[in-house]
Order: sequence, then structure tokens, then C-alpha cells
Amino acid sequence: MKPSSNKSSNALPTKNGHRGFLLLLFLALPLCFTACPGNGSKSNNSGGTGSTPAASPSPANASPKLAIDGERAFAHVRKQIEFGPRPAGSSELARTREYIVSELKSYGLNVTVDEWQAKTPIGERKMANVTAELPGESSDVIMLSSHYDTKFFKEFRFVGANDGGSSTGALLELARALAAQGKPRFTYWFAFFDGEEAFCENWDDCKNPDGPDNTYGSRRYVQRLKENKELKRLRAMILLDMIGYKNLEIPRDDMGTVWINDIIWNTAREIGHSAQFVEREDSVEDDHVPFMQAGVECIDIIQLGGYPYWHTAEDTLDKISPQSLKIVGDVVLASLPRIEQRLLSKPASQ
Ligand SMILES: [Zn+2]
Repeated sequence: MKPSSNKSSNALPTKNGHRGFLLLLFLALPLCFTACPGNGSKSNNSGGTGSTPAASPSPANASPKLAIDGERAFAHVRKQIEFGPRPAGSSELARTREYIVSELKSYGLNVTVDEWQAKTPIGERKMANVTAELPGESSDVIMLSSHYDTKFFKEFRFVGANDGGSSTGALLELARALAAQGKPRFTYWFAFFDGEEAFCENWDDCKNPDGPDNTYGSRRYVQRLKENKELKRLRAMILLDMIGYKNLEIPRDDMGTVWINDIIWNTAREIGHSAQFVEREDSVEDDHVPFMQAGVECIDIIQLGGYPYWHTAEDTLDKISPQSLKIVGDVVLASLPRIEQRLLSKPASQ
């Protein structure tokens, strides 16, 4: 991924000018857990006592077991690094993929692997996206995602502990926690993208006849959804990337959907993580861009600026903290019921 340098020419929605309205909307949102029409039809929760505090971080249907185990997520990061550098098309990435698939299956999820030959500036490379599905009451989908490849550097050994490893580890742990919770209201897709990283040194150095030299997996994913006429099922997309740094500080996603930003940052503040989910904005081009361009509401949770080891040989396991992985995972988990509620109150566009 790379910092976006052309915000002004960016035709994608920004939050400027809408924040006050959306803040008000969000403040009203928790009331919907008990008061909004339509909620009762989807939930057996009868806790409509009117006593639910507006600032409650925990949805009424939360289960005590629904939490992230930071040590488990960290063990997934360590495991990936043990495979070595994992650029797209490498045998190391194939072994990583086998590990991811095996973990996801052990959680009882339906796993599919989409393989294709990608044209890159250094020739064709076999790539594969992995998706685990957790079926919900609705066939509408919320996607949680990460890239699992690491950038290829010939000059040094790059293991991508934070860049690729951390979000993949956290995503596996999120999948485990959500699968253990039982049937959700929405269907969940846990998507692991191949080929996020450019083969050329910089993100924009090379162009292919078929597109840019980056985000191969996410562009392929959107293309397949369009071909299968499934794009409309996808109601929201949350991308994780570089979320394991010990000194965790994640800015809002300036390119992302405003209401998703608001839900996640408000939830983070309410459960005590405003020091990690900071009130600053950044704009990063990443795997969410192809989805955004296809009209999917999405967010990239990423610490790019402020991580001094980005794309260096020093992006190693000692920079990663289980606590950071847990904080991000817990904030996402606590935000999901609110995201679901918001989606239920707003039918899919046709
Ligand atoms: Zn990278």
C-alpha cells in the first residue's frame, strides 16, 4: 500500500462537511439496539427495557466468549514469519496459504481458494485468494479482510511481520472468535488477498496492460464478484493492514466510508482504546480501493505513517505486540453489531 498523494483528484467520498451530522446520527444509533423498527424481526433479544445506556460498548447479544486472544493472533504472525519471505507466487506463500486454509477449516468454516495466473512486470505469477464463509441469517455479506503476501525485495530479507503478517494473524483470530459465536445476522466472508504488494520497487513504478502493479488479489476479487453477480450481497468491507505495532496508533481512513469510520472510532473510544485509534486522518491506497471503486462501503484500518520499519528488513516479530493485535480485533468485534444494525436500517441499494 502507499500513502495517497492525490486527495484532491480523488472522486471517492470524503467525510468533510458531513461529520457533524454523522456524529449526531451515531449518538442516536445505540438507541436502535432496542428501539428501532425492524430490529425485533432479526433478533430474539427482548431487552427493550429502555435502560440500555447510550454509550454501552457491548451489544445486548454479545457473548462473553466473543473476544480476541492476542497470544493466538501473535502465534499466527510468528508462524507466517517462520515460513520466510512470502511474495506472491512463492512456495513460502503456498505453505502459508495451506496453513491459513487449515486453520479456517478447523474453525468449521467453508473455505474456498480462487487461483489464477496474474500478469506482473516480472512475468506470470500464480496467485490465490482465500475466502472463509460464515453463513448468517441473511445472505448479505460483511467482509473482513487482509493481504497475506509480503513484498518482494531482492536486496534484503523481508518477512513482513507487520506488513502482511499482523493483519493475517488478527484476521484468523477474528474468524475463530466469530465462528465460535454461532450463526450471525449477516453472512461473514474472511478474505485473504494475494498480491497486494507491487513487484516493482514502488507502488506506481510499473504498469501492466491489465492494470496497476499492485492489489492483484483485491482487483481479482471484485472482478469475480461482478462476474458472479454477487457484488450486491457485499454490504460492507473492513480491511486490516499493519495493525500489530507495539506503538499502535491508527488514524481514521480519510478515503473510507464516513459512517464506518465513525462507528469504529466511537466504539474504540468507548472501550478504552482512543490512544490507539487516534483522532487524526490519513489516506492510504490499499486493497479497499477496488471495492470502493465498485461502490462497496469500506474502511482500511492501517498504521502506515508512524511505522518506521515499513518495507525494511526490520519489519520483524519483535515490533509486534499481542496486545495491539487484541486491541484492533476487539474494536472490530465490538463494532460489528453496530455496523450490522446500521445496514439493517438501510436496505441494499439496487
Ligand atoms: Zn507493504
